[in-house]
Amino acid sequence: MLPFQELALDPRLLRSIQHLGFTAPTPIQAEAIPAVMVGKDLIVSSKTGSGKTLAYLLPMMQRLLKSRPLSAQDPRAVILAPTRELASQIYAQLRLFVANTRLTCAFIVGGENFNDQEKLLKRQPQIIVATPGRLADHLEHKTFFLQGLEMLILDEADRMLDLGFMPQLHAIHAAASHRLRQTLMFSATLDHAEVNELALSLLKSPHRVALGAGYDPHKDIAQTCYYADHLTHKEALLLHFLRNETVRQLIIFTATREDTERLATLVQTAGFAATGLNGKLTQAQRNAVMQAFATNKFQVLVTTDVASRGLDLLQVSHVINFDLPKHPEEYVHRIGRTGRAGQQGVAISLVGPKDWQALQAIEQFLRRPLEFSKVETLPAKFNGQVAAKPKAKIQPKKANKPKGETKVNSVTDGSAVLKKKAPKFFEGGDDGAAPMKKKQK
Ligand code: ADP
Ligand code: MG
Repeated sequence: MLPFQELALDPRLLRSIQHLGFTAPTPIQAEAIPAVMVGKDLIVSSKTGSGKTLAYLLPMMQRLLKSRPLSAQDPRAVILAPTRELASQIYAQLRLFVANTRLTCAFIVGGENFNDQEKLLKRQPQIIVATPGRLADHLEHKTFFLQGLEMLILDEADRMLDLGFMPQLHAIHAAASHRLRQTLMFSATLDHAEVNELALSLLKSPHRVALGAGYDPHKDIAQTCYYADHLTHKEALLLHFLRNETVRQLIIFTATREDTERLATLVQTAGFAATGLNGKLTQAQRNAVMQAFATNKFQVLVTTDVASRGLDLLQVSHVINFDLPKHPEEYVHRIGRTGRAGQQGVAISLVGPKDWQALQAIEQFLRRPLEFSKVETLPAKFNGQVAAKPKAKIQPKKANKPKGETKVNSVTDGSAVLKKKAPKFFEGGDDGAAPMKKKQK
């Protein structure tokens, strides 16, 4: 593979890369960096852990170092991310590159002091890493302006849509709407119709750089599902895996904030250092949890989809889906917290009756059935095969049909599977997942 030197980057950037110990760009970096450098608007997708952050940070830094600012006061680049934790991680990486230069940067996310942030913005930072909600608030307060914005970068763009940030994204876009702005979108899952609509409104004749699709199997992540009858069964399986797998660090994903606390306690009681992360904690608590997990003070992190996107924690050897995610693409992102940067990872999903619909949606999204295995000492009665009335229909997102593909394989197409198999509810078992049944009105 070509070395970084061949990408015609500023020597200061090359020095920072050397400092990180990276010798060659990853495939997505090799594709995307030159395309960003020629000024194109881009939609970039490649699998989790493939190095998308530097695929935009490097050419962004290059542009800011090489071109004259459009405005002396306004920020020149804004990077948006759906969660504070991801924004914080991006900001930490950015700082490594900024340190070697005269460029200035600021970090603007929700949950932190608004007035302090106003002061930061008044100092006219040239690069801002932010969550869209808080940045839009400051924009509304006219603390800063975006007429001079040269680059707008949306990391995990599809997730920002899921979280309802469309109005904020449009407000930011409208404040910086001029022909010289370059706009980039990144994610491992960008093949939805909604993302295309966002791209059409924010990007100018964008090019697509896609290395594989979101549904392609990730070769570095071993994925296995296990049937579970109810909550207690899931908990027994969870403890079994903790005791029997060689776990460096583990992230457990669950549906609700309450579950993160309950499961963290369960895992602690079993003798493992565990902590919970959820949106109910204060920002200071969230920071402390992430810091403690990143520095290995805890072996296990129990969280919701607040941590499904982008977080790069190289010690994470295992991901367990205690419940399956509501949005099928979150499955790809959750398991993508392991198997990063070429390391091997293990992803285990516990599938109870209440996860059955979510499983169908995930298999439909992945275009293939997931593999199931069993723990001999903890067999499940539930096997997904038992006939019962199918519950509320799933509404998977409209995926764009890939070119040249006309037929959907009836085995891997989840909708076909849905007709064949249906869930069975076990006597009184509650597996703690988001309710499957539609609420009775
Ligand atoms: P993605 O956004 O695609 O999920 P990240 O940008 O978070 O991936 O990168 C995943 C990991 O790969 C990080 O630990 C990062 O430091 C590492 N990485 C990025 N670029 C390179 C490179 N060129 N060589 C080696 N490791 C890299
Ligand atoms: Mg990323």
